[in-house]
Amino acid sequence: MANKRDYYETLGVSRNASQDELKKAYRKLAMKYHPDRNPDDKTAEDNFKQAKEAYEVLADQRKRSAYDQFGHAGVDPSMGGGGASGFNFTDVFGDIGDIFGDILGGRGRQGGGRSHTQRGADLRYNLSLSLEDAIHGTAVEIRIPNLVNCKECSGTGAVKGSKPVTCDTCKGHGQVRIQQGFFTLQQTCPTCHGEGQVIKDPCRACRGHGRVEQVKTLSVKIPAGIDDGERVRLTGEGEAGTNGGPAGDLYVQVSIKEHAIFHREGSHLYCDVPISLVTASLGGEVLVPTLDGQVNLQIPAETQSGSMLRLRGKGVPGVRGKVTGDLLCRVTIETPINLSAKQKELLRELDASLKEGGARHSPKASSWFDNVKQFFRKK
Ligand SMILES: [Zn+2]
Ligand SMILES: [Zn+2]
Repeated sequence: MANKRDYYETLGVSRNASQDELKKAYRKLAMKYHPDRNPDDKTAEDNFKQAKEAYEVLADQRKRSAYDQFGHAGVDPSMGGGGASGFNFTDVFGDIGDIFGDILGGRGRQGGGRSHTQRGADLRYNLSLSLEDAIHGTAVEIRIPNLVNCKECSGTGAVKGSKPVTCDTCKGHGQVRIQQGFFTLQQTCPTCHGEGQVIKDPCRACRGHGRVEQVKTLSVKIPAGIDDGERVRLTGEGEAGTNGGPAGDLYVQVSIKEHAIFHREGSHLYCDVPISLVTASLGGEVLVPTLDGQVNLQIPAETQSGSMLRLRGKGVPGVRGKVTGDLLCRVTIETPINLSAKQKELLRELDASLKEGGARHSPKASSWFDNVKQFFRKK
């Protein structure tokens, strides 16, 4: 440490400089050499460290007089420090904290400080709805365990009639600086855990937390036409904020239960409609369910299995600017079972008669057989 620069020289001030002059000089150098402004510049970094060290010593009256009397040996912690014991570090650190707050636009004291308010967390509630409720809209009561402001202490955490006081350890900054050799480390204040305030007499209802857990019952209006995956926001119904911060929001996330008959895709509904072989062949009517009662579905003659028949406007009603959807019925032809001997005989007769007619009675099968024949010819 023989060649260590004179602290006054480092800051470019006279030996009888006032605290204000020191502060100004340091601030100027810190701005100039701050690592954020000089990335990867070793010289700037050294200058920054030296200026900081010089200021930390000279800004403290007792350290300054020790330095004036004994030089570096009077204050250098690595040299046993002549008069270095019993310093109140927080005085000078509080000061530095302010300077950094100014330079870095407040970044120097993240998380700390008296104005440490925080918005409460958003909450999510998963709500499972029937398709009918989702389509028509409904009102549901939900119960959510939530953190709310303690009524007893109005959220301050201090017993009624008292107030939280500024933390002595960090002077309200929430952060403390700890000197280790030449390095200064910034840490969250161990006394107040970064809050900047301590509660001498904690509120008994919330044990000093300012918030209590409470099961809230909320009535939620689910708008008609809501779809799977959509959510309803309840502003301010999330967790309470801390230190008077605003509450978060509650999001009710909707999922729609599987329906026995309908499958929904956007504004359209789909359903399967089984019809008999005879109805499919000759045409006819079948009753199908819709959201508002049963309707007759016309089955045209010669309907094939898998055909999609559309009932216009019988899907999801148009709400919130959406167009009313359709109900799409997918026809499946049901094979008759439990046949009597007579019924079997009739079917065989029918089959024989159809075979006589050939391809014109079974267009799909004929073209399918044609394809199969071609497939084998190519081999
Ligand atoms: Zn309380
Ligand atoms: Zn503190």
